[in-house]
Amino acid sequence: MSSHRVTVIGAGLGGISAAISLKAAGYDVEVFEKNGQIGGKLNVMEKDGFTFDLGPSIFTLPQFFQDLFERAGKKMEDYVQLDAVTPHWRNLFENKPTIDLYQEEDLMRQELDKLPGDPEAHWREFKAFLTYGREQYDIVNDGYFDKGLDNLWEFISYYKLKLLGGKIDYKNSMSESIHQRLSDPQLRMIFEYFIKYVGSSAMDSPGYMNLMPMIQFDYGLWYVRGGMYNLAKGLGKLMEEMGIPIHLNADVEAIEKSGKQVTGIRMTDGTVHASDIIVSNMEVIPAYKKLLNEPISFTRKLEKFAPACSGIVLHIGTNKPFPQLAHHNFFYSEDQHKHFDTVFHKKQLPQDPTLYVVAPTRTDPSKAPEGCDNIKILPHIPPLEEGSGITHEDYVALKDRCIDKMERCGLTGLRESIVVEDLLTPVDIERMYRSNRGSIYGVVTDWKLNYGFKAPKTSSRYKNLYFTGGSTNPGGGMPMVVLSGQQCADRIIKRHPVS
Ligand SMILES: Cc1cc2nc3c(=O)[nH]c(=O)nc-3n(C[C@H](O)[C@H](O)[C@H](O)COP(=O)(O)OP(=O)(O)OC[C@H]3O[C@@H](n4cnc5c(N)ncnc54)[C@H](O)[C@@H]3O)c2cc1C
Repeated sequence: MSSHRVTVIGAGLGGISAAISLKAAGYDVEVFEKNGQIGGKLNVMEKDGFTFDLGPSIFTLPQFFQDLFERAGKKMEDYVQLDAVTPHWRNLFENKPTIDLYQEEDLMRQELDKLPGDPEAHWREFKAFLTYGREQYDIVNDGYFDKGLDNLWEFISYYKLKLLGGKIDYKNSMSESIHQRLSDPQLRMIFEYFIKYVGSSAMDSPGYMNLMPMIQFDYGLWYVRGGMYNLAKGLGKLMEEMGIPIHLNADVEAIEKSGKQVTGIRMTDGTVHASDIIVSNMEVIPAYKKLLNEPISFTRKLEKFAPACSGIVLHIGTNKPFPQLAHHNFFYSEDQHKHFDTVFHKKQLPQDPTLYVVAPTRTDPSKAPEGCDNIKILPHIPPLEEGSGITHEDYVALKDRCIDKMERCGLTGLRESIVVEDLLTPVDIERMYRSNRGSIYGVVTDWKLNYGFKAPKTSSRYKNLYFTGGSTNPGGGMPMVVLSGQQCADRIIKRHPVS
């Protein structure tokens, strides 16, 4: 290949990461983003003195972000500063003790003492669980993360012995392995809900997903100083310094193709940009269907890469603070397995969901006017489905159930304290980011459906088409999509080297 003009469609974290990695390796990169700002789901909204992080709130695995800055010969701390969040999470239950998660052993041990039963046994089980989780993390990190394994066959050939020797926990579900190792019902629910990080069900995900607690117990849980969107700003500054052109409000309508090659992109205004290599940060299924207009005989094969959950995302500003909340909180369903079953199997709105609730002013008081609180409430719900019968009124009714639940768990007067409110539904999430059926985290992790794999980054249909972001391996969540962009670039560098 004589020239290397790379077009990146979408400036989410996956697209940004691929663009920076490729530019650093000598490629001529341009980014086209349909929205008026970069960052994709890493998004922000200001309303009446409240600043709401519309997307991610938990920052983990800083090493994958540091690696990206290092590829560009820079230090992350010169662009993005992180503050440790403590406690990591507060876990609230109806009529049961509240349990905080701490990285510090002595504090964590005091929390476990609140549980009924033998405190020594709880601590022993907890420690043993972390040892097992760390083992799973190290194995998965070694191949899937570090070597960028991209499909089941690469995985099997790399991990042959570890699979055969039973070191990788894939025979049990995540939930089964938790139940075998932890006897306390509250701890079981807490560890099951680590599956929040990838928007899936602990009952359908393989046991090795129990690596997830380690991403915060070993590597910390962080807040981006000044607000999560400062991560997008820091990456934007780096791209500007590197001379990567970013076209905003640039909606890509189609990918042009000729035989087994893609040749460029066509914008909604009809202009065409020729490219030698295309990287799509638009998710794999929408890109094949909408940009490439592929026949159903091909797109049907992609159905195993079904969307992860969606959510209603409720942001409220209140006229008083709620000291019962930590920065990150989980309000647990009375029956979490019923919650998973309703959302992921029956594909209905849950009556009593587990809620993720963020109140960032504990770390960053600038996010709400003095004496007020800034609260995000996120129950996971099914992605959009034709014929589901779920209406906007159903989403609003779910929102009301969430507020009721939080009031039952001790946040008395929450509803009447609301002075600012913004509700995003799956319809909004699909419209804003073009995610597959409003998915929040890309592709679902489901052993029976896809063995926990997301779509490959290399197109099986076009020799110079690649994908990055949450619909590709290693999956959704900020650190994973930033890693996917770097892995995507590595594949391109190998197959289309700069001469
Ligand atoms: C409410 C919510 C809470 C979350 N919480 C967390 C959390 O706490 N921690 C965490 O790590 N992760 C969290 N996530 C997940 C995380 O935000 C995502 O996994 C990640 O940001 C996705 O990045 P991406 O690059 O895959 O896709 P996106 O961010 O969706 O980026 C894709 C981009 O491509 C653009 N695009 C699509 N099609 C076109 C086109 N045809 N033309 C031009 N542009 C196009 C879109 O506009 C978008 O900007 C959360 C997400 C949401 C929504």
